[in-house]
Amino acid sequence: MDTKNFNLFETAQKQFDQAADTLGLDRPTRALLRVPMREYEFSIPVRMDDGEVSIFRGFRIQHNDARGPGRGGIRFHPQETIDTIRALAMSMTWKSAVADLPLGGSMGGVICDPHDLSPLEMERICRGWVRQISQDVGPAWDVASPDLMTSAQNMLWMLDEYETIHAARSPGFITGKPVRMGGSLGRLEATGYGVIIAVREALKELGLRPEKTRASFQGFGNVARHAIQLYQRLGGTVASVSCWDQEDKVSYTYRKKENINFTELSAIANAFGEIDKAKAEKLGYERLPGDAWLEQDVDILVPAALENQISAENVKKISQQVKILAEGANGPTTPDADEAIKECGILVIPDLLANAGGGICDYFEQVQGNMNYYWKKDEVLGKLDVQMTSAYISLSDFSRKHKLPMREAAYVIAVERVAQACRERGWV
Ligand code: NAD
Repeated sequence: MDTKNFNLFETAQKQFDQAADTLGLDRPTRALLRVPMREYEFSIPVRMDDGEVSIFRGFRIQHNDARGPGRGGIRFHPQETIDTIRALAMSMTWKSAVADLPLGGSMGGVICDPHDLSPLEMERICRGWVRQISQDVGPAWDVASPDLMTSAQNMLWMLDEYETIHAARSPGFITGKPVRMGGSLGRLEATGYGVIIAVREALKELGLRPEKTRASFQGFGNVARHAIQLYQRLGGTVASVSCWDQEDKVSYTYRKKENINFTELSAIANAFGEIDKAKAEKLGYERLPGDAWLEQDVDILVPAALENQISAENVKKISQQVKILAEGANGPTTPDADEAIKECGILVIPDLLANAGGGICDYFEQVQGNMNYYWKKDEVLGKLDVQMTSAYISLSDFSRKHKLPMREAAYVIAVERVAQACRERGWV
C-alpha cells in the first residue's frame, strides 16, 4: 500500500469540508460528520501453525448510521492503518448515500499479510476479529463484507463465529458470503461490472461507442477482472493491466496493445490477482514497469488496485488521449493529482459512485437473506444495472446543473442526504 505523503483520512476530511462549505452546513452537523461516530481498535491473539502466538492489530470504524445500519468491508493488508480505515468508513457513508441505499458507512481491517498465512491461520484471524468485536456489530447495526485480500470463505468463517457467540443464525451479519451459504449471485461481478456500467453511461454522454475505445487497468483482482470482462464484452480493447509481483516486491504492467486475452491471463494469475511474469512473457505480453499502465495511449484509465496510486509525481504521464478516469479502487487519486486531471478535462467517475456496485449487491444480499428468497443471477445483475445507471444519471445531471466536477457533486449529494437524516433523527 503506497500512502506516499498523503494521509487518506485528512484527504477524506478535506473533501468533506469542501462539500460542507458548498452546502453551508451548520457547525454541529460538520462536527458530527467530520469524524467517525465510533471507533474500535483491538489485538487479536492467534496461535500460528508453528505453535507460537502472534498478535495482530484489528479495527472496526463506524462512521455514520443515520440512514440505516452501517456497512463496509474488512481489509487484510500488512500496511493497514487506522487512518486509512477511518477514511474508508467515511467514504462508505457517502457511497451508500450516493447510491441512495438505506445504509450507513463502516470499515474494518487487520494488519496482516495473507501471502504469509496458511488457510488455518487465516481462519483463526477471521474468527479472532469477530470475537473482539461481536458485541458491536450485527445485522441491524453494522454489516461487514469482503474487501482487499479478504474472500467469501473468510466471510463465512466470520459468520460462523458470530452465530456461535450469539447462538442464533444471523446471515444478515455479513455479506459477500459464498453463494450456497446465503451469498448473492452476482456479488463477485458486482463491483467490476458497476465500474463499467458507469463507464458505459459516461461514454454515451461523450458520444463514444465502447467498441471504438481502448482502456488500461491497474490491478487484476476481483474488481479489475470483472471490469475487464464486461468492458471487453461491450467491445472495448484492453491494452494493458498492472499487478503486484510478490516475488520481486514491485508491480509490473503487462501489455498487449491489440487486446489482452482475458482467459489466458486469468489462467496464469493466482488468487491474489498476481500474474505469473514468466508465463505472461511466454504468451507474448510485454512486461513494463508498474506505473506504465497509466502512460498508455488509451481512452479510459481504470485504477482498481490501491489508494494513492495517481499522484503529483506520475499524473503528468497520463496520455492526452485519455477521456475517462473510472476509479475502481477506493481513493486512487491524490488531491493534487485530481487538480491536474481536472485541468486536462478528463471526466472522473469518482470512487464514491464508480465502485459502488459491490455495496449495492451487498444490499441486495441483505434483502434476499431477509426474505430467504434468492434471485437468479440475471435478476441481480439487472437490478444492479438499474441502480448504477440511475445513480450515474442523477450524479451527472447534478454535476451539470451546479457546474461542479463529478467528485464534488457526489460529495455534495451524499453529505446533504446524510445531514438531512441526522437532522430528522434530532441528532443535530
Ligand atoms: P484484490 O485483492 O482482489 O486485487 C487487488 C489487485 O491489485 C491485485 O491484482 C494486486 O496484484 C494488485 N495490486 C496490489 N498492489 C499493486 C500495486 N502497487 N500496483 C499494481 N497493482 C497492485 O482487491 P479488489 O477486491 O479487486 O479491490 C481492489 C480495490 O477496489 C481496493 O481499493 C478495494 O478497496 C476496492 N474495492 C473493492 C470492492 C470489492 O467488492 N472487492 C468494492 C469496492 C471497492
